[in-house]
Amino acid sequence: MMMDTPNRYDVLVVGAGFAGSEVAYRLAQNGLRVGLLTQSLDSLFLPVTEISDPPAEGTLFAEVYEEGLPPFLLHARAKWRLESLAPRLHLFQATATRLCIEDGRVLGVESWEGPEYRARVTVLALGSFLGARLRVGEIEEAAGRLGEAAYPDFYAHLRELGFRFEPSSLSAPPFKGAPGYTVRFDRFASEEWDRESCRLTRFSGLFGVGVCVLGSGSYAQVSLEGTRLAERLLEFFQNLPVEDA
Ligand SMILES: Cc1cc2nc3c(=O)[nH]c(=O)nc-3n(C[C@H](O)[C@H](O)[C@H](O)COP(=O)(O)OP(=O)(O)OC[C@H]3O[C@@H](n4cnc5c(N)ncnc54)[C@H](O)[C@@H]3O)c2cc1C
Repeated sequence: MMMDTPNRYDVLVVGAGFAGSEVAYRLAQNGLRVGLLTQSLDSLFLPVTEISDPPAEGTLFAEVYEEGLPPFLLHARAKWRLESLAPRLHLFQATATRLCIEDGRVLGVESWEGPEYRARVTVLALGSFLGARLRVGEIEEAAGRLGEAAYPDFYAHLRELGFRFEPSSLSAPPFKGAPGYTVRFDRFASEEWDRESCRLTRFSGLFGVGVCVLGSGSYAQVSLEGTRLAERLLEFFQNLPVEDA
């Protein structure tokens, strides 16, 4: 296990949507030192559309879900549970702009705010924010979800590194007087991601989960995917020198 050094983790998760939060929660519960970095803590584990499926057993989502619970309370419950895992889980607001890479291995990320965050394993859980355009009626803006800006830096950097992408889109119907909208975004191309191990195979030490690799998925589905990736990573940490991951 890693020394208790600021900004150094066993696993760094970028993006605290349903997928990334599940990964971080399960790993920290199992004793790993985890950094969960996300662009806005106010939108952590916050559903912005209707929840179509009930949560699967054994997920953080199942622990905090209650039918009819307002979205902001679901967010608050999940955030409280994640925060209660401190100091093993460090939750912070920052925007990743670049991967730190040495000899083909990802060692963490640089942030727009300045600090670098280092880890033995980095997980990208970036959702619908890569090259995202959100359209409501005639208005279009760079946003990955309603009211959440999508900044171009990380996406441009990933393209410079040679990552390939495929176009995806998600649509929300009109709801309780609010207009419907569509988000068009890029997800990692299927040849970049190994479904079984969840690795983004272009570099070692890099994994992907949720909508940024699947292109779609309900809150319940991506949250289960997060739990599945956490199980894989726990196996890595138990059975392998992680440098081989
Ligand atoms: C238009 C729309 C309609 C949907 N409809 C449904 C539905 O009907 N039913 C349903 O169950 N689900 C629905 N969903 C939910 C969706 O399909 C996902 O399940 C859900 O958003 C969780 O995905 P995720 O965790 O992969 O990513 P997201 O929830 O998108 O989270 C990704 C997080 O990463 C952060 N991030 C991105 N880039 C960076 C960066 N560079 N640095 C730091 N943080 C970063 C973002 O701020 C965000 O918080 C909808 C979503 C959208 C956008």
